Amino acid sequence: MAISLLSDANVRLERALKYVRISEDASERLKFPKASLKVSIPVRMDNGSLRVFEGYRVRYDDTRGPTKGGIRFHPGVTMDEVQSLAFWMTFKCAALDLPLGGAKGGITLNPKELSKFELERLSRGYIDAIADFIGPDTDIPAPDVYTNPMIMGWMMDQYSIIHRKLCPAVITGKPLGMGGSQGRDAATGTGAFYVLEAMMQRFSKPPQEMTVAVQGFGNAGSAIARHLFNAGYRVVAVSDSQGGVYCKTGLDIPSVQQFKASTRSVKAVYCEGTVCNIVNDHETITNEELLTLDVDILIPAALENQITEKNAEDVKARFIFEVANGPVTSAGDRILEQKGVYVFPDILVNAGGVTVSYFEWVQNRSGLYWSEAEVNQRLKGKIVSEARKIWQISQELAIPLRTAAYVHALERLEEAHSARGTRDYYVS
Ligand code: NAD
Repeated sequence: MAISLLSDANVRLERALKYVRISEDASERLKFPKASLKVSIPVRMDNGSLRVFEGYRVRYDDTRGPTKGGIRFHPGVTMDEVQSLAFWMTFKCAALDLPLGGAKGGITLNPKELSKFELERLSRGYIDAIADFIGPDTDIPAPDVYTNPMIMGWMMDQYSIIHRKLCPAVITGKPLGMGGSQGRDAATGTGAFYVLEAMMQRFSKPPQEMTVAVQGFGNAGSAIARHLFNAGYRVVAVSDSQGGVYCKTGLDIPSVQQFKASTRSVKAVYCEGTVCNIVNDHETITNEELLTLDVDILIPAALENQITEKNAEDVKARFIFEVANGPVTSAGDRILEQKGVYVFPDILVNAGGVTVSYFEWVQNRSGLYWSEAEVNQRLKGKIVSEARKIWQISQELAIPLRTAAYVHALERLEEAHSARGTRDYYVS
């Protein structure tokens, strides 16, 4: 039977609840999404036919602020997946102390099959369908898997047309010319690199002696691979949906990136080339092989449910930094824990994206724009300080880093929920 992502996400919550004093009201409310919307999006295709797509938007919890979360275009998008991603966003925003709640959205499709014109009509149609559900003070979408700044620009424009005024703060991850933030495009990878750099200082091995494998060479995966390469780490393997490349002396990441970028510009909005086509001095490997390579650091940066009870035993890396959302299942977690693997969790590691999205929203609302250096400096300060707090909780309570991150987030969520009154206040 397929694993329900939301039930699996709730396993993590239950586990963390044992280590934190939280009202029954708050823990009960956090088990359910606040609102889940399913819409049909009719799109006129280039050949004149009409196709109807299914779209979703979920607002999980808004106790700490307007909800925030990306929009995914992928054939695997379901309500269960979107609800789980919205759950993770709630904990991520709280773990980073952003004044935001969690949300997520998606459309079920293979975007590579659509022309740019069809994609634009679909993106605008999605906003027409969910316009009453989102807004700068209620719910602010952003990019996720297979969506990009251009798509965010179309969406912001459509929302502005509906409201008959420019509304840049309704969506983040926009192109710079439409009110996007410097540093947003690479923010998830950059933030993950800051966390990795700060945490690896605790283990006395210099970057030059450490090997890394990155699964998923998209926005987030390629950005962290580039940072690691520049810092001297040996990135020996990277992959995309079609497979991976391995080179034991280390890949030249800028060339891999250049190859992907040049293929993309020739073909479509999406990268149709694959990293497997880079021919020099490498072996091709499958995504499954990449996950069990004998490396120091493994970075899953593609999709959820990649390390499960089926392959966790074979993982050889000592450190896992979850750049993707939910790449390790709770059953996979238990095996990794027994093996002594340090799993730095998604709600911390990939929080750079939502942090700079928050900065973009702040800049749109204030009308004052920051330089890339300023954005990155603020990002580093925030994410490294929260990473240290999570490490500290993990050490003090002798619990895995993931549970520590949830405990940290739950303390903040509890404060916000309790401030509204709980049964302790009304009943006693
Ligand atoms: P992306 O669309 O830019 O890239 C996804 C990459 O994964 C592509 O290279 C694709 O080829 C590859 N891929 C797809 N299926 C795969 C498979 N089965 N095996 C291996 N590779 C596969 O997406 P992204 O924005 O980089 O997102 C990647 C992950 O990071 C997702 O889990 C997403 O939720 C998470 N994330 C992204 C952001 C963001 O700001 N973009 C923020 C936080 C978390």
